[in-house]
Amino acid sequence: MRQPGRAERLAAAHTRDGATCLWCARPLDDRVVATTDHVIPRVQGGPSWLENEVAACRRCNGARGHRGAVDWLEECERRGWTPDVERLARVLDDLAEAIRVRGGQRRARPHLDAQRRRLAKRLDEAA
Ligand SMILES: [Zn+2]
Repeated sequence: MRQPGRAERLAAAHTRDGATCLWCARPLDDRVVATTDHVIPRVQGGPSWLENEVAACRRCNGARGHRGAVDWLEECERRGWTPDVERLARVLDDLAEAIRVRGGQRRARPHLDAQRRRLAKRLDEAA
């Protein structure tokens, strides 16, 4: 199966998620430029799959660096932004499912599992 290219994946992420930054919720447009952010960072073994990619503004993507998704989510909240917690939870679930189906990604798995546990705990406490 042909894998879509980077620009196609970013467009697909927009279609899936809506054209806002996951982290600060700003609409992505000519002024707030969309970049591809890896939910599980590449340095943690995160794959270049649509399931691991979200649209984020350049500011957030740069400020996050290699931080884990939940650490960065909490930092966004401290900064007074409104990150989309439910979108993040959905993306992490879909990524876990994609890894289950396709296999591999041994390095990313434990990191992904830890992020999902932390997020589930947060959502439990909020319920
Ligand atoms: Zn942002």
